[in-house]
Amino acid sequence: MKLGCIADDFTGATDLANNLVRAGMRVVQTIGVPGDDEDAGEADAVVVALKSRTIDPADAVAQSLEALRWLRARGAAQIYFKVCSTFDSTERGNIGPVAEALMDALGCDFSIACPAFPANGRTIYKGYLFTGDVLLSEGPMRDHPLTPMTDPNLVRVLQRQCRRRVGLIEHAVVSAGGAAIARSMEELRAQGIGHAIVDALSDADLMAMGTAFATLPVLTAGSGVAIGLPRNFGIEADARAAQLPPAGGAAAIVSGSCSAASNAQVQAFLQRHPDRGLALSPSALAQGDQPIDAALAWARPRLGDEPLLVYATAPADAVRAVQAQLGVQRAGELVERALARIAHGLVEAGVRRLVVAGGETSGACVQALGARRLRIGAQIDPGVPWCHAPDAAGRGLHLALKSGNFGTVDFFDKAFEALA
Ligand code: ADP
Repeated sequence: MKLGCIADDFTGATDLANNLVRAGMRVVQTIGVPGDDEDAGEADAVVVALKSRTIDPADAVAQSLEALRWLRARGAAQIYFKVCSTFDSTERGNIGPVAEALMDALGCDFSIACPAFPANGRTIYKGYLFTGDVLLSEGPMRDHPLTPMTDPNLVRVLQRQCRRRVGLIEHAVVSAGGAAIARSMEELRAQGIGHAIVDALSDADLMAMGTAFATLPVLTAGSGVAIGLPRNFGIEADARAAQLPPAGGAAAIVSGSCSAASNAQVQAFLQRHPDRGLALSPSALAQGDQPIDAALAWARPRLGDEPLLVYATAPADAVRAVQAQLGVQRAGELVERALARIAHGLVEAGVRRLVVAGGETSGACVQALGARRLRIGAQIDPGVPWCHAPDAAGRGLHLALKSGNFGTVDFFDKAFEALA
């Protein structure tokens, strides 16, 4: 293993894995820290997906150190701590505490933090993070229920979470190239600075960082910085990195995302396949499990090459009405549990190609399916690759996990066409 990665959430892990595969690395994503008896296989990079973004900082540190031990014991030459491109964190962490714990464990006195992902509109200038055209604190992240981001200055944000001093490598330096960035890193280290936020406005900036970061034992970044690192290991973009075992078996989609994009994707699918969609009603689920059995009974005789869709996806006003009736939490849990059981039932009935829409929904389904590791394949749309989960019976399952707003309107059909 060349690169060992620790991601603080599930879909973020897939996003990072996707960028590494596109840059030529063979990547495996694990759900949680694998057992001591498990190895890294033939992967150039392993991404350990944790769910540590908003848990207690001490737990986040403990889980991250456990991941670090597993990765280092399997030869990881460099550690990549993957955080959100909007630097999602609270005053207490968990970005700073985890980054410092990883540095301490590796005996490292200087590192960088850069969540930039210009292709997705996340840029950093003079330490200020922009989402699209506005400062982080003026975009939707200011109202996030768990990690409201009200300070756009990442030097300040990270400093509040860290013991070591936080500095900045400005865009004027970054645009001068990898050697200039490396010199600036040395100067900051000599001044006793422990972390540097690094400006980035373009993929060219990320590629320049790649060269400069070659010798860092550990770094903290969004998925963007990953595009410049594989070259350091002599790896160039190569479609073979995305090769998965051949796909077969029946095709299905399970959708629990209520984002605008998912609503449009469900409608587009139903228009093209009028008889191959079944809606789940949260209020009916609140009465008992009958809708789950009914959905599986509907699906079984229809399974085949043409995909079918089971969905709870609904427009915002319908979701609000159900939430008013059942409570936000209960409505969400009922639907997640039902879709996870349906996904499991579909796979038992012969589905081998499964698309899941929704971040939380994906987490619930992957858990119900018992998938512990995913080999990452080719990208369907930005941020959403096909993955392959081997199973004990040796049959394997092709999975695409689409978070909320990702994917074009024809995503579902496009996904299966891409796999063919
Ligand atoms: P996204 O990635 O779009 O945020 P998630 O799966 O993460 O999708 O979150 C969607 C949440 O909405 C899940 O908890 C899901 O169970 C819930 N949900 C899905 N359909 C409905 C519905 N019709 N009414 C209420 N809640 C729903």
